[in-house]
Amino acid sequence: MVERTCAACDCKLDTNPIKVKIGGKTVEVCCDECSKRLKEAHVSVAGTRRD
Ligand SMILES: [Zn+2]
Repeated sequence: MVERTCAACDCKLDTNPIKVKIGGKTVEVCCDECSKRLKEAHVSVAGTRRD
């Protein structure tokens, strides 16, 4: 069994991870706060990046 970790804070995911869609990818986080953090991080990265 593969151990899964929160995509935001790297702690171990337990019984019911929260799934968040970031840039077309689904990631799992441990709590609502982490999902918000991930979304904000993605927005700021997308907002500052210019190709
Ligand atoms: Zn977390």
